[in-house]
Amino acid sequence: MMNEARVLVVEDEPMVAEVVDRYLRRDGYDVAIVHDGKAALAEFASFQPDLVVLDLMLPNVDGKEVCRQIRARSQTPVIMLTARSEEIDKLVGLELGADDYVTKPFSPRELVARVRAVLRRAGNQAQANPDTLQFDGLSMNGLTREVEGLSGPVKLTAREFDLLYFVASHPGQVFSRTQLMDAVWDYAFAGDTSTVTVHMRRLRTKVEPDPSRPRHLKTVWGVGYKFEP
Ligand code: CA
Repeated sequence: MMNEARVLVVEDEPMVAEVVDRYLRRDGYDVAIVHDGKAALAEFASFQPDLVVLDLMLPNVDGKEVCRQIRARSQTPVIMLTARSEEIDKLVGLELGADDYVTKPFSPRELVARVRAVLRRAGNQAQANPDTLQFDGLSMNGLTREVEGLSGPVKLTAREFDLLYFVASHPGQVFSRTQLMDAVWDYAFAGDTSTVTVHMRRLRTKVEPDPSRPRHLKTVWGVGYKFEP
């Protein structure tokens, strides 16, 4: 089977959800339907979809927040469903990292075509280079250990690369200095986590265009650091 991809549909209008479900299944997709934002986040974790079709206006947690939280933990493609009047929200959807959007009322056939196209694009990217992590103005290759910043190749020490690659592999996740120490330094260090601080500072001067206002390598006050995708 070509299309065994899992699609999570988040839509609170039962009629719309039902039609989308039917068309996606007919095309061979494995579909899960949920009707609100809270259920969407729970289902996202357990169903592990390859793509999410996400309505913008949802009860309890809205589509924007759902999209933001999905983006904080994965690169799973998201297609937003928006009402015609929601022009601004449409843009916000893309700013939030949604891959595409479809305005309501939409033809289910068109939605299925978009799903197929976005999945193909995502699949090609994943196949092209599974070890390359790519972000806004920054990419790193886990095999060649090459790093490209906005102004070209960046030279990092082995430890700096390991630290950067580790946090970038877990976008949005907050790590304490001790956790980073354990993950990146492969020997039991005598507990001086200021090493992490020093490495993080050096990394910022190398990969951040404005190290005092980092785009990716964020400090989480009182806790540690996180990589913002
Ligand atoms: Ca809705």
